[in-house]
Amino acid sequence: MTETDSNAYDVVVLGAGPVGENVADRTRAAGLTTAVVESELVGGECSYWACMPSKALLRPVIARADARRLPGLRQAVQGPLDAAAIFARRNWYTGDWTDDGQADWLSGIGADLYRGHGALTGPRSVTVGGRTLTARHAVVVATGTRAVLPDLPGLAEVKPWTSREATSAQSVPGRLVVVGGGVVATEMATLYQGLGSQVTVLVRGKGLLNRMEPFAGELVAEALVEAGAEVRTGTSVESVTRSDGTLVVVTGGGDRIEADEILFATGRAPRTDDIGLDTVGLEPGSWLTVDDSLRVSGTDWLYAVGDVNHRALLTHQGKYQARIAGAAIAARAAGTPLDGAEPWSAHAATADHETVPQVVFTDPEAAAVGLSLAEAEQAGYRVRAVDVDMASASGAGLYAEGYKGRARMVVDLEQEIVRGVTFVGPGVGELIHSATVAVAGQVPIARLWHAVPSYPTISEVWLRLLEAYRDN
Ligand SMILES: Cc1cc2nc3c(=O)[nH]c(=O)nc-3n(C[C@H](O)[C@H](O)[C@H](O)COP(=O)(O)OP(=O)(O)OC[C@H]3O[C@@H](n4cnc5c(N)ncnc54)[C@H](O)[C@@H]3O)c2cc1C
Repeated sequence: MTETDSNAYDVVVLGAGPVGENVADRTRAAGLTTAVVESELVGGECSYWACMPSKALLRPVIARADARRLPGLRQAVQGPLDAAAIFARRNWYTGDWTDDGQADWLSGIGADLYRGHGALTGPRSVTVGGRTLTARHAVVVATGTRAVLPDLPGLAEVKPWTSREATSAQSVPGRLVVVGGGVVATEMATLYQGLGSQVTVLVRGKGLLNRMEPFAGELVAEALVEAGAEVRTGTSVESVTRSDGTLVVVTGGGDRIEADEILFATGRAPRTDDIGLDTVGLEPGSWLTVDDSLRVSGTDWLYAVGDVNHRALLTHQGKYQARIAGAAIAARAAGTPLDGAEPWSAHAATADHETVPQVVFTDPEAAAVGLSLAEAEQAGYRVRAVDVDMASASGAGLYAEGYKGRARMVVDLEQEIVRGVTFVGPGVGELIHSATVAVAGQVPIARLWHAVPSYPTISEVWLRLLEAYRDN
């Protein structure tokens, strides 16, 4: 414990998800006394109901799909997956939804943990369980998000799934309706179809993964259908009822679908409705707008880091922000001027704007960093999209018989640098960091020719992209 006798700290962090933990790590490393307030489990959504359980569950599904693409191995993996063993491994990854290990880690870095619901009561002041903590330098809101359910009459009575139930389930529903077309919906549809559910995906829009290049959603939808799922686009949900255990979902078009469970993966809302934002002149329930040092606009002591600021709802981006916020708080506490907003600044989250990487763990995987063609054009860059078939890399054919995938590089024609890259195909998740380095590092195309990919790896797709750019 750093400061047991007093309720005054240098920094008070609200929320001990991956982001709050990382802020505390940085402020403690800078020698600032730090309190962390957590109402549920230290480790947050990511550790117990999001990244970790979902990826632990998906891994065997994807490994089997990969194995089935290899003659000689295919025959060995024809049976069903052992769902009980997969759930057991996921349970281990979540520590059976206990947080002793992560709480010990917090105590190990010298941060004080206060369990309970925390709320602001005014500038630099936070209450938790009847105790008021005050912050000399900063209060950091890192309270994350919760799933949003649509406003359908009687929905609560049918006990719909959100991402929490989908990632913590202990059995596989026979029939699952997945509502939504984003990352959570496509990953969970891949998972449950792989585990043996009959999955029906209902998407309001034209297709899946509509924040990525259009071919990403197309290839993922095609593969879901090939795996036996049904994907209905342009479809909304009108009503959901349950009788004798069976759900009846009626679509906007009047179709009736029977299911055992329904998962709504229809968006996230910030957990800011009950944290006393009104006591400091901010709107309860709102996303918190921040500058590049993650400080809330109009204050000199309040920071909002991670999902809650709506910049990029991803753990790695939140942890990146946490490193920057921690450094900025420490510099301001020491009276040191912050460095500028150049791409290499330690005090400005520059990569949050146009360099965000993301991997969607579907089969095939979809991975992207930076701007899509549409986003780059919208941002006013003069760009050209270069497309190649992933199978043109020799490593792809070796990786999987009949490898199916596509890559796109969005080139800024004025600066001759890469603004964005998208890969879709088996195993591309591990490829994306090469693109992140190229985009974040603003590596000139002429120099990229000297970044030689190993033979015979899927990374040789980089050569195909450079050749296609040169030749067209
Ligand atoms: C199904 C799913 C899968 C995902 N998979 C990935 C992935 O593979 N990779 C990836 O990068 N991202 C993934 N994400 C996104 C990722 O989970 C979030 O970006 C990440 O959890 C955000 O971290 P955070 O610390 O900002 O918030 P959270 O993880 O939500 O943590 C916030 C913490 O604050 C606490 N809290 C809230 N209010 C209070 C209060 N008033 N007082 C005290 N404590 C409070 C909460 O209990 C929680 O512990 C996924 C999301 C979902 C839903």
